[in-house]
Amino acid sequence: MNRYRFAPSPTGHLHIGGARTALYNYLMAKKSGGKFLLRIEDTDRERSTQEHVAAILASMEWLGLEYGEGPFFQTERMELYREHLERLLSQGKAYRCFCTPETIQEKRDLAMREGRKPKYDGTCRKLDPQQSASDPRPHCIRFHSPEAGKTIFEDLIKGTIEFENQELDDLVIARTDGTPTYNFVVVIDDLSMNITHVIRGDDHINNTPRQIQLYQAFDYPIPTFAHVPMILGSDKKRLSKRHGAVSVMAYRDEGYLPEAMINYLVRLGWSHGDQEIFSKEDLIKHFDISKVGVSAAIFNPEKLLWLNGIWIRQSSPVRLLEATQPFLLARGLDISDTEYAAAALASCQEKVKTLIELAQMADFYFQETVTVDEKTKKKCFKEGYRDVLKKALELFRGLAAFDLKSVETALNEFGDTHGLKLGQIAQPLRAALTGTMISPGIYDVIAVLGKDRVIKRLENILSS
Ligand code: GLU
Repeated sequence: MNRYRFAPSPTGHLHIGGARTALYNYLMAKKSGGKFLLRIEDTDRERSTQEHVAAILASMEWLGLEYGEGPFFQTERMELYREHLERLLSQGKAYRCFCTPETIQEKRDLAMREGRKPKYDGTCRKLDPQQSASDPRPHCIRFHSPEAGKTIFEDLIKGTIEFENQELDDLVIARTDGTPTYNFVVVIDDLSMNITHVIRGDDHINNTPRQIQLYQAFDYPIPTFAHVPMILGSDKKRLSKRHGAVSVMAYRDEGYLPEAMINYLVRLGWSHGDQEIFSKEDLIKHFDISKVGVSAAIFNPEKLLWLNGIWIRQSSPVRLLEATQPFLLARGLDISDTEYAAAALASCQEKVKTLIELAQMADFYFQETVTVDEKTKKKCFKEGYRDVLKKALELFRGLAAFDLKSVETALNEFGDTHGLKLGQIAQPLRAALTGTMISPGIYDVIAVLGKDRVIKRLENILSS
C-alpha cells in the first residue's frame, strides 16, 4: 500500500506552499487507495511553538485534508532515534567525532584559502570504535558516507538526479548534546512509518542524497521522491509576506472557501487540459504528481479571488450557511432560523466574491427594522414613492403565495395596472426593504423575506 506524509515544521503558520505540498500528498494517497499521514517536525525547539502547531492542525482541518494517521511529533520519538543511532554505531556505519568546532573551522578556512571545497577530512573515521565509546571527551556522531560512486534517484517531477558521493560530507547525525539532526530523524521517521512516497518542496532536494545513503545503511527500500517547484510572487521572488497574505488561515479569515483554495492550490504547477474548476473528487480522479511542471509557479491572488467567487456561486444554500456562519455571528446576527438564513445567503451568492462580502450583503435580512441611509433615500425615494409603497403594501397583504414566481408575476401585473415601470417599483421597494441600493434582485429579496417581514418593513417606512 502506498503511504504518503506531510511533514511541516511548526516554525510558522501553514502557508500557501506548504498547503499545496500537503494537498498533493493527500490527493496521491486518496487516488492510490493509500494512506496519508501528518508528522509535525518539531525538533527545532526554539522556533517551534504550540501556536503554530495549532494553526497547522486548524488549516489542515479547514482544507479538509484528513489524515488517516497522526499527528506524530518528532519530539515524542527521541527514543526511536537513539536506538537507530546506536545501531549505526554498532555496525560501524557511524562513528564518534571528537574534532572540536575550532579545529573544524581552521580546516575549513584553510580549504577556502587553498580554493578547495570545505569538507570534513575524516580524521575520526579511523579511530577505534571501542576506544571511542569510552572516551569522555565531547563528541558528535557522524555518518560514514560512501566515498566513491554516485547517489542517483528518479524524481517523479524533475527526472534523474545525480550526486557525486565524494561531494557529500560525513553527515553529523547527532550533535554534541546527543540530539539527532534533521536529516537523520526524517529518515528514521520515514522508514519506521513505512513511507513509500515523499512529496516535498524542492528546497529539500540537496537533502535527498544524504537521506538515500541513510536508507541504504539501514537496508531499507528507498521511497519514491517528488520535489515540487517553488511558488514565486508576481515579482518572480520567492513567495513571502511581502506579497500579501500567505498563510492559509489568513484566507479563511478573509472569507475564502476551502473549496476555492484547494482548487487554486492544485493549479499552481499542474493542469488538466483547459479545465479550471476542480472539485476534490475531480482531483482525486485526475491529479497526477508526475504531471506537475518543473518550473516555479507564480502566485496570483486575483485568480484565487476569482475562483472564490465561482465556488460561492456554485455552493448549495446549506454549504453557504455553514461557511458563512462565523462571519454572520461576528456581525451579531441571529441566524437561528437556518432555513431562512440559508435562503438569504443563496439570494446574494451571485453578487459577491468573498464570504465577508456575502455576510455584509445579507445583513439586512436579519435586522429587526431597516434604516435607509440618506444617499439611498435620495436616489430611490423619488416623488410619489409613498404612494407606490402604499399600493405595494396592499398588494402584498392580499398575496397568498410568496414564492419567487408568484412575487414576480404579481409585481409585473402591478406595474401594468398602475402604469409603472419596474424601476419605479423596484427602487423604492429595495430601499424600504433592504435599506441600501446594493442588494440581490428585488423578487428574491421579497420572496426570501416572506410576507410578514415585507409587510412589517413597508408599514415601518410608511409610518415614519
Ligand atoms: N519539515 C520540512 C519542512 O517543513 C519537510 C521535510 C520533508 O518533507 O521531508 O520543510
